[in-house]
Amino acid sequence: MSTPNLQDVALLKRRLEVAASIEMTYPDWFMTAYGRPKFVLSEPDVAADIKREKRHICHICTGCQKVDSIEEPFKRCGQCLQDYYCSKECQKLDWPQHKMRCRQSVRQKRYESIVKAIEANKECMGYLKIATILLCKLLDSPDPSKEPFTCLVHLGIEPTNIIDFARFRGEMGPDNIPDSAEKIKGMVQVNNVGPLPAGLIDMNPLIGQWKVKKADADAEGFYKDPVGVMIFMLGDPARAGVVSVPVHITSLFMDIARKAPPFQQIIGGLSRTMTLDISTCIECINIAIRRDTTNKFLLRKEMNQDDIKIIKNSTTDEHEDESLGVKLLRGRMVREYIYRVLLGLQVPPE
Ligand SMILES: [Zn+2]
Ligand SMILES: [Zn+2]
Repeated sequence: MSTPNLQDVALLKRRLEVAASIEMTYPDWFMTAYGRPKFVLSEPDVAADIKREKRHICHICTGCQKVDSIEEPFKRCGQCLQDYYCSKECQKLDWPQHKMRCRQSVRQKRYESIVKAIEANKECMGYLKIATILLCKLLDSPDPSKEPFTCLVHLGIEPTNIIDFARFRGEMGPDNIPDSAEKIKGMVQVNNVGPLPAGLIDMNPLIGQWKVKKADADAEGFYKDPVGVMIFMLGDPARAGVVSVPVHITSLFMDIARKAPPFQQIIGGLSRTMTLDISTCIECINIAIRRDTTNKFLLRKEMNQDDIKIIKNSTTDEHEDESLGVKLLRGRMVREYIYRVLLGLQVPPE
């Protein structure tokens, strides 16, 4: 990589700041569907779940099997919040056994909290539904309610500030790459909505999930609507777990996808017209999350080393790490405005 000179860096920084000021004018269908334009967030169930967990139930020490009391409840492992211990000693002794399970459940908890937050978010789910209709060609099907649709929603975590993203990639110069001590705020982004690769996961539990959701939809009179399962994956398949969410797509979203109305984006005060397709659905979700600076969406997450690695490896064209996460991020960078500015493929208005 050539070393950028200071002027180039200042110019790139200015351009990225303009690009980050992307605003969406919400299309009519969005207003019809949701009534109000911004941060249409249903009360997230996440908060209620956390409250419910606080009621006291007895806990068993994973080390010595002792049971706690309401007066003196045991403390949980601070990382996975899964296993309880009566004492520091018991926890220390159990660590070699607990280690693997702990890491796994920390990861699993992270996906689940992210997917829960997306599921509770009407705006994100609305765009995901439209993307799925287009991806699975549900409009062309004579009876889309017959078979379950499936799709893979691939997620990544990246810095909330596009300048930090550029810093990780070395675009702000070699002296500007964040070191591991620096805390960089992260957020969820959707890298891709694509077909579910054959053999990636066991389909049987999914069919079960679909049947339950389908029965609910039928009972409510929506027997003509498509019902299927969205699979969410974070990062690379080798490390990622998957979370599946059964989804019912109502005729409202089928209509929106059929009409696919154009809509506006405003960047640095200038407006451009967008067509509604899979890529723009993904970009709209990502812009919405980027603009949620107060974390109403609950999709701001601390970045871990796996997340950072994907961003760093996205710089070079032919890299030894041709992982799925890297590939999908690169693909998105070519499609989405803010990264096109970073890559020099597009210049925002000054
Ligand atoms: Zn114990
Ligand atoms: Zn643990």
